Amino acid sequence: MTTTQKEPGWKDLEVGFTISQPGSGKEYKTGDWRSLRPVVEKSQCIKCGICYIFCPDMAILKTDDSFFEADLYYCKGCGICAQECFTRCINMVAEEE
Ligand code: SF4
Ligand code: SF4
Repeated sequence: MTTTQKEPGWKDLEVGFTISQPGSGKEYKTGDWRSLRPVVEKSQCIKCGICYIFCPDMAILKTDDSFFEADLYYCKGCGICAQECFTRCINMVAEEE
């Protein structure tokens, strides 16, 4: 005999309920949510790595020439990197449709 499990309505979900499994964040293309993206002006970048440290999504990558750039697959466009950059060399620009 099989049983069917009724899915709860959204109002019945517990506070803090998540659908994803622990450690599965990299499977989700969170960059789809973004309306702004960070662009680094390399001529002003001092390669300090502060943007890398502060990005809450670990969406900043170090490039082969030791600059830092956003991984647009995961970057949500929150702008924290631009806010924390010492030299203000990260500009948040609008995504085009
Ligand atoms: S905009 Fe936000 S998510 Fe994107 S790289 Fe900067 S800190 Fe990370
Ligand atoms: S925080 Fe700004 S200056 Fe520092 S590495 Fe990132 S982009 Fe360059």
